[in-house]
Amino acid sequence: MTTTRSEALFDYAQQYIPGGVNSPVRAFKSVGGTPRFIAGALGARIIDVDGKSYIDYVGSWGPMILGHQDTDVFIAMQKQLGIGLSYGAPTELEIEMAELLCNRVPGMEQVRMCNSGTEATMSAIRLARGFTGRDKLIKFEGCYHGHADALLVKAGSGALTFGVPTSPGVPADVARHTLTATYNDLASVAQLFNANRDGVACLIVEPVAGNMNCVPPAPGFLQGLRDLCTQHGAVLIFDEVMTGFRVGIRGASGLYDVTPDLTTLGKIIGGGMPVGAFGGRKDIMQKLSPAGPVYQAGTLSGNPLAMAAGLATLRKLDNVMLYAQLEASTTQLLDGLKAAAKDAGVAFTTTQVGSMFGLYFGEGPIRGLADVMKCDANRFKVFFHAMLDRGVYLAPSAFEAGFVGAKHGEAEITATINAAREAFALCKA
Ligand code: PLP
Repeated sequence: MTTTRSEALFDYAQQYIPGGVNSPVRAFKSVGGTPRFIAGALGARIIDVDGKSYIDYVGSWGPMILGHQDTDVFIAMQKQLGIGLSYGAPTELEIEMAELLCNRVPGMEQVRMCNSGTEATMSAIRLARGFTGRDKLIKFEGCYHGHADALLVKAGSGALTFGVPTSPGVPADVARHTLTATYNDLASVAQLFNANRDGVACLIVEPVAGNMNCVPPAPGFLQGLRDLCTQHGAVLIFDEVMTGFRVGIRGASGLYDVTPDLTTLGKIIGGGMPVGAFGGRKDIMQKLSPAGPVYQAGTLSGNPLAMAAGLATLRKLDNVMLYAQLEASTTQLLDGLKAAAKDAGVAFTTTQVGSMFGLYFGEGPIRGLADVMKCDANRFKVFFHAMLDRGVYLAPSAFEAGFVGAKHGEAEITATINAAREAFALCKA
């Protein structure tokens, strides 16, 4: 397969951009080979600069749930393009977005827009600290909440992929306020609360962990976190940057019927534009500047183009049939992959929540980071490249969830399963 132009661009990029990419996992470092430079995308497919087309299960790491170049999103953005890109003053679009989010996300009474998931989680934590007057936060090993200092402690995603879950550059003085618990293990959380009485400002969790591959919450886990936070006066933050509008119209909190105090959002709510948001209980949100003393701001926050793209996306997602279809397509894909792996005699497990999925080379069950780490990363590498050669673009890391979108139809799912039959045969060798 020709990758001539991607190779040339990757060399060129490395002269000017550290590692040749603007976000680490894009560099293919953990799977090896040349990252594909993308020339364009349509529907369920992306096309690289060498002219090869791929069925895309990354979807820009989650946002492209409607598929690439959705007509309604395109039209909404075009309309906004004609009247200005950014004003740095309030617009009606921002109220429409805030109202829509508050009407959909459980417990969201007020919301503030920002520009990325990282900004959303970083700001939510500052707010929780300002609200409670406490410093400590609890997070889970293998969960990723963006790259703010306090959250790059035992983190997932690229940090895990590159083996530096706690980054150099995070001052020890900052890291000491971050306590880490074990995902799906309530006893580990209770122990931290008991050892830090009246000290924990908040607990932040991915309600479905999507940055150590895809680990669903065990029954009762999220409710248990809710109860512990209430008992200890800590703010419960659901980081729904990935799961918001992905696992259902009311996100993971709606799906599992557990209401947090604050929720962070990103990805889908921007329809492919840079965006983030955090919101929740009004008494907490009222502490935020200019209503209250906790400072947070952004030159481009609530950007009209991002609001237009996000609103067009969210309005289209207001459709239970679409979520049912996404879930059914994902189940069909995973059933096909499992059957293909079984026929090839390859140990293989999958996880699924709605249209979010995980692929593991090993036996289940997958309950947390320890199980994920036991899987065969080398087999994943072989599988990843075999699929890429056959026109299927999976996340270039064994620690990232995959996504099915509205444009993945019968043809794409069947083609993916057929490619996997050949790929699993190579994994066995
Ligand atoms: N939180 C979660 C759960 C995420 O998956 C991510 C990114 O993948 C982030 C936060 C950070 O978002 P961003 O990359 O937009 O800063």
